[in-house]
Amino acid sequence: MRKLAIYPGTFDPPTFGHLDIAERASVLFDEVVIAIGVNSAKTPLLSSAERVDALEAMVAHLPNVRVEVFGGLLMDYTVKMGARSIVRGLRAVGDFEYEFQIAMVNRRLQPQVESVFLMTKWDYSYLSSTIVKEVALLGGDITEMVPEVVLPFVHSAVERTHIRRALG
Ligand code: ADP
Repeated sequence: MRKLAIYPGTFDPPTFGHLDIAERASVLFDEVVIAIGVNSAKTPLLSSAERVDALEAMVAHLPNVRVEVFGGLLMDYTVKMGARSIVRGLRAVGDFEYEFQIAMVNRRLQPQVESVFLMTKWDYSYLSSTIVKEVALLGGDITEMVPEVVLPFVHSAVERTHIRRALG
């Protein structure tokens, strides 16, 4: 049986950290689906369609990785997809307690689905989408945080945000 893993997240925007985890997962599993969750209460910087395009460009070199959007419960989506594994990335500190809690809840919901945690590359262990958004919205350089193919998506979303704010 082909081993399928779901790599869920917000990916607003995708970063080198996300790419690193997707590459590691692509080696461990036959197939990886990057699943963009769209039920967040926050207004994202990038639309879900932009995130799909940015992620597809970012993983174009990984033939066994594809991108989808999902709403509702991650465990329902995972079961619907026929996957037995969820991949999540772990960074330097803060991530563990939150991820542990989510994994415990997910296990209660679907005991047969395993959460798999992959540790990021040293260089990206402090990198987050939130930091990228803050730097980008303030006009800072994000070229070392986001893959080149993702940059145009962030730049146009930042421009749109500035225009929206200027118009009040
Ligand atoms: P979420 O809102 O679900 O946390 P994110 O898009 O922020 O979604 O992150 C998705 C997954 O990628 C999470 O498991 C997160 O820990 C991981 N991740 C985010 N940034 C990095 C990074 N720099 N290195 C490794 N993993 C990361």
